[in-house]
Amino acid sequence: QPSPALAALLAQREFSDADIVALLGLSAAADIECLRRAAFALTTREVGDRVHYRGLVEISNVCVLDCHYCGIRKGNRAVERYTLSREQVIDAALWAARAGYGSCVLQAGERRDEGFISLIEDCVHEIRQRSQSASLPQGLGITLSLGEQSAETFRRWRAAGAHRYLLRIETSNPELFARIHPPTQRIETRWQALADLRDAGFQVGTGVMIGLPGQTLVDLAADILAFADRDIDMIGMGPYLPAPGNAMPAAGALASDELLQLALKMIAVTRLVLRDVNIAATTALQALVADGRERGVTFGANVVMPSLTPREVRKNYQLYEGKPCLDEARDDCRSCLANRISSTGRQVGWNDWGDSPHSRHFA
Ligand code: SAM
Repeated sequence: QPSPALAALLAQREFSDADIVALLGLSAAADIECLRRAAFALTTREVGDRVHYRGLVEISNVCVLDCHYCGIRKGNRAVERYTLSREQVIDAALWAARAGYGSCVLQAGERRDEGFISLIEDCVHEIRQRSQSASLPQGLGITLSLGEQSAETFRRWRAAGAHRYLLRIETSNPELFARIHPPTQRIETRWQALADLRDAGFQVGTGVMIGLPGQTLVDLAADILAFADRDIDMIGMGPYLPAPGNAMPAAGALASDELLQLALKMIAVTRLVLRDVNIAATTALQALVADGRERGVTFGANVVMPSLTPREVRKNYQLYEGKPCLDEARDDCRSCLANRISSTGRQVGWNDWGDSPHSRHFA
């Protein structure tokens, strides 16, 4: 049983910065369990008891940016670069449709050249057309995660048939953003891209890295309130983990169990504040502990992103050290994850786009 003060806090509908900092700062196991239960129950009420799969295709690790934290940043000469062919991308997505996943995510390092833009346009169009079936009459739902692009590019990809886009703000604290990116990358431009995505007609997803060096609970509380302010539909956030050959240090003060706990509390509190959005239990959680994604589900996440990237290149898309499932085949991932999901008391939402009720207004 939570203390009366904690019970009252967990039952609120509106949260101040101080409320959120208090929830993120919970440290007693019994209090964290109360937070977890409140978030899990609210998830069931607001978005249902299904967990939706988004098959993740990591199309290319070629990147024109140099984000200090990222394993595939342009300056990391140790990375062997690859770009999947059009057929490989379409094949992976069609496998997802046949496996009942309902949606896929096409992700890559950032590129803005016409060749890449039209490759994506073409793949999206083909996937939507060729994945239509009796169980998926509209074809596979397509989420893109391809970084900051022009408003025109967003419109082209939306017209081709993608309907969700993930672009993390990484941190809403402008000073921290400036510390983890080269000066050419600006937080204002990233916010503008998120607004452009909304204008182009996408469901908009964002998120942050948790446990960045110098990041405080006040920063994380501000991140959650920023998601609410901008009426974000989907959240993908996970722990910051050091990358191979990377210039940026580990979080320092946080041991991996504390980092995991903080990431799980972020999911739960985001659920309490944003209520009816989709929240992903990201792969980075699983890099910290084998059942990290399932724990994310028990703290209020309702989306998971099993990898569909061909095994031969998966090891080259390592954003951080310890990426899990490097050698798993797609079929193994499907059944392993389905068992893991049922262990949380949830079921998989097969053959369903799994849009959040938050985006009901979205046609
Ligand atoms: N280029 C696209 C973009 O930037 O949105 C998509 C690919 S990018 C690699 C996807 C996400 O990986 C980033 O938004 C970032 O949050 C995450 N990421 C990169 N390096 C990471 C690290 N060392 N630890 C945890 N997450 C990381």
